Formats: sequence, C-alpha cells, structure tokens
Amino acid sequence: MTSTSSYSYLHKSPQDVLNDIDFQLTLEPALLTKLTKAFLEEINVGLGRYGEDMAMVPSFVTGVPDGSEIGTFLALDLGGTNLRVCEVVLNGDKTFRLRQQKYKVSDQLKTGEATVLFDYLADSVDAFLTTHPPESPTSPISDVPDVLPLGLTFSFPVEQTALGSGTILTWTKGFSAKNAIGNDVVKLLQDAFDRKHMHVKCVALVNDTVGALLSRAYTSGGCMLGAIFGTGTNGAYLEEVAKIPKLANNLAATKGGYMVVNTEWGAFNNKRTHLPSTPFDSALDRTSINPRFQAFEKFISGMYLGEITRHILLSLIDAAPRPMLFGGKATKVVNDQWGLDTSVMSEVEEAWEMRVTVDTTVAEDLNGVANINEIGAEPRSFPGEIGENLLWDGDDHDILPRWDILSTPEGLASLNPKVKGKLEKVRKVLVNRLEYADEDVELRDAAIVRWTCHLVARRAALLSGVAVAAILLQTGRATFIQDGQNGQTVPSTTEEPTSKKVNGANGTHAVNGLNKVTGTIKDGLEEKIGVGVDGSLIQFYPHFERTMRESLRSIVGSDAESRVEIGLAKDGSGVGAALCALQALKQGF
Ligand code: ADP
Ligand code: MG
Repeated sequence: MTSTSSYSYLHKSPQDVLNDIDFQLTLEPALLTKLTKAFLEEINVGLGRYGEDMAMVPSFVTGVPDGSEIGTFLALDLGGTNLRVCEVVLNGDKTFRLRQQKYKVSDQLKTGEATVLFDYLADSVDAFLTTHPPESPTSPISDVPDVLPLGLTFSFPVEQTALGSGTILTWTKGFSAKNAIGNDVVKLLQDAFDRKHMHVKCVALVNDTVGALLSRAYTSGGCMLGAIFGTGTNGAYLEEVAKIPKLANNLAATKGGYMVVNTEWGAFNNKRTHLPSTPFDSALDRTSINPRFQAFEKFISGMYLGEITRHILLSLIDAAPRPMLFGGKATKVVNDQWGLDTSVMSEVEEAWEMRVTVDTTVAEDLNGVANINEIGAEPRSFPGEIGENLLWDGDDHDILPRWDILSTPEGLASLNPKVKGKLEKVRKVLVNRLEYADEDVELRDAAIVRWTCHLVARRAALLSGVAVAAILLQTGRATFIQDGQNGQTVPSTTEEPTSKKVNGANGTHAVNGLNKVTGTIKDGLEEKIGVGVDGSLIQFYPHFERTMRESLRSIVGSDAESRVEIGLAKDGSGVGAALCALQALKQGF
C-alpha cells in the first residue's frame, strides 16, 4: 500500500515547519509526570476489574525464581517477528543451556485461519525435535512420563485463568488470525499437537514480559519488573495479591502473597486523552490493522517508530509550495506503508554518533557548546543531565537543523569538518537504506532525517520511562519528585525509604540478601531494583536506556533511578517458559 501525506505547510517558512515538528515531538518533564499519574490510575482500574483497556492480567505465577531451579523443558515463543522453538536446560546455578531454532511466520499465517497458524506451530516443534533430538531427558510429567513438557510464550493479550490456560483477548502487532479470539490458546496449541499425535504437552502459558521477569530473576538473583521493547512493548511486575481486587474469591486471592501481573501497558491511554498525538501518529493509527488500540505501543515500539518517521519524512518530501527533503523524490522505501524499518533509524543515529577523524589542528577546539551552536544546533538541557548536553561525541540531544545554514553554499562551507563528516556518514546510510540515488541526497537531507529519527526515538524512550516509573511508584519503590517539574530530586536523607515497607510486607524474609518473594536485592542500605528487559529496540537503539533513565529521573528523581538495575533478560521467553513449566509441574499438573 502506498500513502500520501496531507499536512499543509503553506504560509510557513521551512524553518518554521521544522520548528513546529520539533515542538510537537518534544516532551516536557511536566507532561511525563502527568502521563505517569494517568498510567497509575489505569493500572489500578485494571487491577480492579476485568475487561479494561490496560488488562492487568494475573499470571498465576506467585513468586520469582532465585537461580536454584533445575529441569529440562521445551519452549515455544510466538509473539512478534519470529517464532522460536527451544530446548532449555536449567542447571540450578543461575545458568542454563539453550538450543533453539527460529521459524518465519508469514503474513498469510498471521492473518489466516487460527487452526492453520497453530498447525504451523506444531509442525515447527515437530521439525525442531527431528533436527534437535533431546540431549538430556526432559522433566517428567508425573502421570504421562514419556510426554515432553512444553512452556508456551504467547505475547498477546490473554486473560489467564490458570498457569496452563488463558483466553485470547485480542491480537496485536500485525496478527489477526481468525477464530482465535475468545478461545483458550493452550487448547488451540494442544489440539494441534494432538492432531499430529505428537508426544508434547503444553503445561504452562506465559507472556514474554513474565518470561523476561522470571529469567532475569533466575540469572541475576532478583528482579521485580520484566519489560519488552521490541516489535511491541509491554511489562510484567510483581504485585501484592491484596492489591488485585479482581481476583475476588479465586483460590490465589485467598492465599495472599504476591503475583506476577502482565500489565499489557501497550494499551495505556487508548482514548489518547493524555498521549502527545501528532498528525503523524494519527496517520499511522488510522492505517494500522488495529486503529484506536495499543495507543501507547504505537508511540514506542519497533514496529511503529520507522512508520512514524516515514510519515514525517513524506510530509517534508511533499511540502508545498516547495519540497523540503530529497528534492521532492520518494523511493519505494519511503513510499510504502511499513517500508521504513526502525533498524534504519538505529543505523542513521549510529552513523551520526561515530567518531569522525579530522585534521588535529582543527580538532582541538571541537569539543564544546560553541561548536554545537556553529551549525545552529540547540542543545536542550533536561533535568539530571547537567553538563551531559555539552558533550559533542556521543551527544544524544536534539539537533534542530538550521535551514539557512544547511541550504546555502556559504552556510555549508561554514560547518565544522567534524559535523560535515558525521553528516556525510548519515548521507551514505540514507543512500543505502532508503535506496536513493547518490545525487538525490544532500547533507541537508542527512541533517533533517537524523534529527527526525532522533526526535521520534527520544520521545519513545521518554515514554518508556513513564511506564517504568509508574511501576516503581505502584510498588512503593519510589515517590514523585517534589514538584514533578523542576528536576530537583528529594535529598536522600529526607526521602522515605518506602522500599523497606515492601520488604517487610506480609512477613517475607530476606535470604542471603535476596528477598525470594519480592525479587529485590539488598546491597548494604541501598535496595537495588531489578528490571529485566528484552527486545531489539532497547538492545540496539543507541542510548535508548540512557534516555529512559533521563525520563525516570525527571519523574521519580535520581535516588530511585540510580537504584534501578536494568539488565538484559537473555533468552527471556525461552527460559521464562521453562521456569513456568517447572512451576506447573511442581503444582502437580
Ligand atoms: P520480537 O519483539 O518480535 O520478539 P525483536 O525484539 O527482535 O523481536 O524486535 C523486533 C523489532 O525491533 C522490529 O520492529 C524491528 O523493526 C526492530 N529492530 C530490529 N533491529 C533493530 C535495531 N538495530 N534497532 C532498533 N530497532 C530494531
Ligand atoms: Mg521477543
């Protein structure tokens, strides 16, 4: 599908057009705080009732592992760009072995009949078992010893009813298979295994966020939040059962303690009353497979950032009365819906970030504000980032292109060589990845595209910080900074050590510094807050985590932010599914 842009830039100077886009995509700390408050409200609405936008799905996982778990399991991961089948061996010493095979899921499978999709999943497991015969005996299921136990990581909204069953609520991330919604996903899969007479039993169902949380806890010894920033975005955290009223009379509720809750935060503010929507976001949403759903996700995740960027670039290519980008030319990549992958943005920013070697006689005075201003860049200060925005190399701050400098031979000649070198590298990436002819891309285009990528990704990372901050606040591990706006942190001496409250709750006890139930690690007086993350965006997008932390600091202050330990939940979906399968077997599946 091709699309045209329809933003009117008449009666505006090119600089004003850029300024306006910059303004629309820039988030102030006060907005981040406001969003966090709205986020907290939705969290609690979702914990109270079924059927809310932010589904707050109880996972029936009632504690986090500590690394001592042992067993061998199959795991199947469906939820995004690839389908993975793995065999996971938990060694019981925080380490694991994993063998895996990836399989493509075609658009036809994603949008066809559910039984065809699930038959394909079963076929993939079958193919995996043929090419990877079990090396170590899998953990036995008590009543059916020769059947292999499998944990399913299914990363779509599901209303879980037990560790091993759950109803599909809706599809996201480009899936829309028919006759799936309202059905038990474990049954759909098991029926497919049974149709093929396979000796495999799906014993546990886990969301990838829950998997990230469990696997990070297994390998690091403590974790309270698992978060995904990949094709989509979502998070799961450890909540007090007493704070999940909708469990009502469920057996789990009467037992008390803690439970992992899958927030489905991608659906935060679906009504878009608070999210900073621009015309570009509206264009994306309107032409998406799920308009008006997954609003938060559409600002943040890998599936969408490239598309938002593409809409902005198209508007500049089509700008009237005169094109502002690529001489008005559009390639297939920028013209096709979803044509611009988020990884292109990463590459553009990496090209910009790379150190460029220049003649040392001019290099000496190239580190400072003066040079930033030289190309008309406007370094922005952000609370907690004092001084950091003065850095040139690795500088992560917005560079608003100055049209006058970039559009005249004299202006271009006045650019310092280092900046020119960086722009030239970006220009080459654009020629390669956007498939332009070399002569169609100028340094000005490079500056504009780099700035666009940066604005879109920076907004995504700041909004990601809102989600993490909300979980810290919800679990009493942080408080809003004093006035929520000026970036001042509450001095640590006066800050209420709210985290201690969590530790003492329900008489839980710390073992070797690790609280086995709440998943926090004590390190002297400081309580570390473990966060396990997964997804290509946070792994590969330059400075995504740094910007997310910047957002956290502006919402909850640097004390809380500095206690957050973000670590990769390596192979989270596989290891998480295995850990869940283990728990299912222990519960006498
Ligand atoms: P999934 O979420 O499907 O399990 P990933 O975590 O790999 O898979 O995320 C895939 C998404 O990440 C895609 O939307 C893709 O555009 C994006 N992506 C892939 N590589 C990069 C990269 N280098 N930088 C930023 N985003 C990337
Ligand atoms: Mg994934």
